[in-house]
Amino acid sequence: MTETKIDLLELNTPELRDLLASWHEPSYRAAQIQKWIYQDLVEDFGAMSNLPRSLRAKLNVNTCLGSLAPILERDSPNAFARKILFRLADGQTLETVLMLYADAPDSPELEEGNDAAHEFKRRTVCVSTQVGCPIGCPFCATGQAGFVRNLSAGEIVEQVLYFARERKRNGYAEMPLTNIVIMGMGEPLMKFDITWKAVEALTDPARFGLGARRITVSTSGLIPGIQRMASTRPQINLAVSLHAPDDELRDHLVPINRRYPLRNLMSACREYVEATHRRITFEYALMDGINDRPEQARAVAQLLKGLLAHVNLIPLNPTADSPYQRTPYARVKAFERILRDAGIATTLRVEKGIEIAAGCGQLRQQVGHDWSRANSLPTAA
Ligand code: SAH
Ligand code: SF4
Repeated sequence: MTETKIDLLELNTPELRDLLASWHEPSYRAAQIQKWIYQDLVEDFGAMSNLPRSLRAKLNVNTCLGSLAPILERDSPNAFARKILFRLADGQTLETVLMLYADAPDSPELEEGNDAAHEFKRRTVCVSTQVGCPIGCPFCATGQAGFVRNLSAGEIVEQVLYFARERKRNGYAEMPLTNIVIMGMGEPLMKFDITWKAVEALTDPARFGLGARRITVSTSGLIPGIQRMASTRPQINLAVSLHAPDDELRDHLVPINRRYPLRNLMSACREYVEATHRRITFEYALMDGINDRPEQARAVAQLLKGLLAHVNLIPLNPTADSPYQRTPYARVKAFERILRDAGIATTLRVEKGIEIAAGCGQLRQQVGHDWSRANSLPTAA
């Protein structure tokens, strides 16, 4: 790919039609091209057999189908998770994870222990939206690495297409991706329009066509983004990273709390539920001695009382440079019990791919930033 090529993954339908119109091509070609890209998952223009040869040649010279180069892959020993580190056109790196679960695609989160089944009914890709992250949560590898840049809509969409294409290539066409979580590196609601352009490509029936309810976005609590989600279509699932039941602690753990304190965040969440009648998932990463005391569990229950909500407890995935440690399992269960006894729907997240450093910016942190010389895929672990 040369820098002057237009990446077709960056274009929505009107933009693709405009490009074709400027080449004096009929607009129905846009639908044909989109079907090839997003449904047939072809990787080059030569395969687009219902397009005239001249158009295929023109597309080949002037456009491309993405810009991500996979440079490192890691499979978890149990093969339930697979992580790819991609190099972007400007040399930056980002990571994307595929997670396989035994439970149904519509279940909120897997409960501990369900992995025994051999059939993976839920096949989820976790995509990144930024290189690094400006929010700077001190327990998060991505936050510790600082912020580099936003991803484009095409770079977000391509992370999904990569795994969709790979599954097709490897004979899993009958078991396509079922879910997308926008929970990788970065804060997805910071550049709302970019994230939404990607969401539209992924949900549009003429393109990737995944049901909106199969897509979840996680935010550190950007109120303007939550407000836009309340009134924007398609209506995808919302997850909010809570991590603390009071401002003093949350100011520290999720620093955007200083701008959008809990009181305001909770009102925005209540308004969101009123407008959409949709349940919000609150993520809570349990950190030993920091946010895992019984009274903190009761405070979380108090905060969420009466709200259509679900708590997802995540035992912390400790990162290299952070002082935070994971809460021991017995206390995780005690925290869970307090929430459940208070009538709050609560699940424990199974930690996919911890052993492949799949959590939250960790692979990128582990291997460092100098990927300029890495041009082939080293052997998977
Ligand atoms: N930036 C967004 C989405 C990406 S992070 C957000 O913060 O919501 C996805 C989830 O993983 C968030 O709930 C985040 O707080 C959590 N997380 C980050 N680092 C973690 C770690 N080391 N262990 C466990 N969860 C972590
Ligand atoms: Fe950014 Fe989310 Fe990590 Fe916080 S937890 S630094 S918001 S990616």
